[in-house]
Amino acid sequence: MSAAPVIVVGAGPVGLCLALELARQDITVTLIESMSDDNFLDQVPRAGSNHPTTLEFFDRIGLYEKMEPRGLIAPKFHYWDRQDNALIAEFDHALLKNDTKFPYVLQCERIKIIEEALKMAKAHPLVTVRMSTTFESFEQTTDAVLAKIENAEGKPETIRGSYLVSAEGARSVARKDLGLEFEGFTYPERTINIEVAYDFRKHGYTERNYISDPVEYSNLFHWKGPPDRWRIHFPTNIDDDENELKRPEALQKRLRQFLGIDHEFEICGCNLYTVHQRVAAKFRVGRVVLAGDAAHVNSPIGGMGLNSGVHDAFNLADKLARILRREADETELDRYERQRRHVAVKHTQAQTVRNKRLLEERDPAVRRRNHDELRRAADNPESARKFLLRTALFESLREAEQIQ
Ligand SMILES: Cc1cc2nc3c(=O)[nH]c(=O)nc-3n(C[C@H](O)[C@H](O)[C@H](O)COP(=O)(O)OP(=O)(O)OC[C@H]3O[C@@H](n4cnc5c(N)ncnc54)[C@H](O)[C@@H]3O)c2cc1C
Repeated sequence: MSAAPVIVVGAGPVGLCLALELARQDITVTLIESMSDDNFLDQVPRAGSNHPTTLEFFDRIGLYEKMEPRGLIAPKFHYWDRQDNALIAEFDHALLKNDTKFPYVLQCERIKIIEEALKMAKAHPLVTVRMSTTFESFEQTTDAVLAKIENAEGKPETIRGSYLVSAEGARSVARKDLGLEFEGFTYPERTINIEVAYDFRKHGYTERNYISDPVEYSNLFHWKGPPDRWRIHFPTNIDDDENELKRPEALQKRLRQFLGIDHEFEICGCNLYTVHQRVAAKFRVGRVVLAGDAAHVNSPIGGMGLNSGVHDAFNLADKLARILRREADETELDRYERQRRHVAVKHTQAQTVRNKRLLEERDPAVRRRNHDELRRAADNPESARKFLLRTALFESLREAEQIQ
């Protein structure tokens, strides 16, 4: 086994899962995170829906049992038509009871996942966690990677590793240093996310809802509780002023219009985000590998970013561990790229682009056809199970396994 640790940059969900899985397989890891212990939990709200496949991976490293008490079990999800205020289709993960130990989505925020995973990483004897440490650049030779960092004292330092994994998120320094194109596009409009203390189940909604509307589509999620919080996302217009969008009266009006009721909502927060659909041209160059948002970013409709990033982490951990145990050679890393890039392009990108199109479709005939397809898929247990195998990412995992 190599004496030099694997350097993992970024203690997001992907970097932490990778570090914990490598350590579980007896590989030493140095995990670098630019945030400090003081501000680590002050991050904008992002991912929240964890699919059954991802729960199986969390379970493998002992993370699931920490998350379940902090999350909400959401077996069902809905498609709604806002124009008719009608439920189009309900899908129930209970149909996957023979496919998985976890026939549900766990609504558990990214911040809770990384809080628990960071505690586990710090407690693991094979993981050295370096907080307040920023990765700046690297050099690689045939048998090592030298990472240049600014350490917690603000001093430049070089650390040596056997491999370096950039789990730095969308702004990956390593990806830019490698000159890799981040192929794809960015939607011109931003999305507004409103967090509200209101029980939408009173109106027939379930824990996760995708709501189609040619004028203002949305996504509605039971986010956390107790205390109960829901999140609702709406697209905004390109020229909308941020302050105007976030004005309390404007938020109240949006919610009132959405539900068609006169009510004063308890709004707990809101933020605006931009959606990118991009995949790095390569996931591996020599001893440097990209995973998670560093390698691919996508619209959150369908909850696939964190989930597919965590799938990258476990796929890569197995391959790195086998290479470092001398059971496989480095071509395994090319296989990682073939498998996970295929998933990013053919599944995550394709599916998230389709999800948005489905919700915002304006042509009445196409809307009708789309809704009929959803109804047909939900009506029959076998077609519904097939649909769920795709949305819960079993299909992409199984397909990737077939790629040599
Ligand atoms: C509104 C919204 C909702 C979402 N909902 C979902 C959802 O329901 N389900 C889902 O699957 N996905 C969702 N996503 C996407 C999801 O949040 C991301 O895909 C996921 O967080 C990516 O994880 P990551 O570990 O790759 O990167 P990140 O979570 O971005 O973590 C990167 C880490 O690296 C650190 N870092 C960065 N640069 C450096 C450096 N140079 N040196 C040291 N450290 C560094 C950062 O501080 C950070 O801690 C959502 C995204 C948004 C915006």
